[in-house]
Amino acid sequence: MKCRHCRERAGWFTRVCADCQRLLAIYDLHKGQLGLPQFLDLFIETGLPRRKIEAFLDSALHGEGSVKDHILADMSTQLLGAMGVNTRQSAEDVKRLREKGIWRGMGERPKE
Ligand SMILES: [Zn+2]
Repeated sequence: MKCRHCRERAGWFTRVCADCQRLLAIYDLHKGQLGLPQFLDLFIETGLPRRKIEAFLDSALHGEGSVKDHILADMSTQLLGAMGVNTRQSAEDVKRLREKGIWRGMGERPKE
């Protein structure tokens, strides 16, 4: 079977290859606590090829947005929370904004 994240061969009985399992474990351990740059550092520390890491970040997670979208959604929820804005950005929101090309960066509330 092909890995659902990097599309390389995963093995007969698994949909996620060993490399992506490592990346997923790092993501699960730190999600909601780290931003994208910190995650990138941890991913690069695994020694896996950049290409693999990028494929993983761009792959879908739980069917709603990419891994990157999830990380960005967690970051923006934290930032908005820190500013006293009580909202919850979902990965789906981030994906929608990114696709519209109106995502303006972390601290700023995107406008419709
Ligand atoms: Zn993989």
